[in-house]
Amino acid sequence: AKQGGRGNVRFFEPQMDLELQARKALEYDLRQALLKDELELHYQPLIDLEAQKVSAVEALLRWRHPSRGLVSPGEFIPLAEETGMIISIGEWVLRTACQQALSWPGLRVAVNLSPVQFRHRELVDTVKQVLEDTGLEPGRLELEITESVLINDTEAALDILSALKGIGVHIAMDDFGTGYSSLGYLNSFPFDKIKIDKSFVTTLEDKVKSLAIVRSVIGLSESLSMTTTAEGVETMEQAMLLLGEGCKQVQGYFFGRPVPALEMTAFLGNWQGFTVL
Ligand code: C2E
Ligand code: CA
Ligand code: CA
Ligand code: CA
Repeated sequence: AKQGGRGNVRFFEPQMDLELQARKALEYDLRQALLKDELELHYQPLIDLEAQKVSAVEALLRWRHPSRGLVSPGEFIPLAEETGMIISIGEWVLRTACQQALSWPGLRVAVNLSPVQFRHRELVDTVKQVLEDTGLEPGRLELEITESVLINDTEAALDILSALKGIGVHIAMDDFGTGYSSLGYLNSFPFDKIKIDKSFVTTLEDKVKSLAIVRSVIGLSESLSMTTTAEGVETMEQAMLLLGEGCKQVQGYFFGRPVPALEMTAFLGNWQGFTVL
């Protein structure tokens, strides 16, 4: 039995394998994380290349675990999804990011939506409610979804996306090119933005194929009146290559790593553009 209402003591059956034990321990801790205020958002700048301006920030979730230190989302989001905890965690992320955006006038804030959240029947109401409660202008919120939400029930996905667009928020297709990408999706769904996955950006300079893919994604999204953001830009060379290809926006360690809100405020205050090499 675990927890058994006897304080914080946890018991594990000896036959439980180690992996499952570790998972259970993490799950137990994650259930407390929200209550104990252990979750925090870091923010990474999105740079408009032509204007050399920070025009948005992406909120990235972190878990400050009492003994493990800072845990990255890749390590606990899958668990949060499997257990349904992602619904309350996701709402916290949305609310915290919208609230925080109020102190950065003119900036848009991008929030990642898990496919589980996307399918949750209360998503649209939650988004509406959070915008109403915080008073953030809907156009300053951008929701990032991945291709996987579109594949199963295409019609339902379209309904949800239309309802979200109806509220006035922006929609970005995240990690483009990594999933079951169908170019047809781009035409059928109301995206404002395509985010080119960092795997293409990383290999931009030495893989002819990556450049070809990046070029065609930029061309296609332009012809469909969407903008493109390239993720994972780590060098000036990559940024300049992307600018040359017509990519409007970039995000990556070269311009700024994800940092806590206070540091982002300082970053924004110090921003002076960049020198083109
Ligand atoms: P993502 O949405 O694709 O976020 C971009 C990831 O790339 C982030 O990792 C970011 O720190 C990292 N990154 C940014 N610039 C660079 C770069 O120049 N080079 C490299 N190598 N990496 C870069 P992070 O923060 O570990 O997040 C991983 C994933 O976890 C995210 O991928 C997203 O799918 C998910 N995630 C993060 N926050 C949330 C959240 O609040 N809700 C949900 N549902 N998922 C989230
Ligand atoms: Ca994202
Ligand atoms: Ca991404
Ligand atoms: Ca990713």
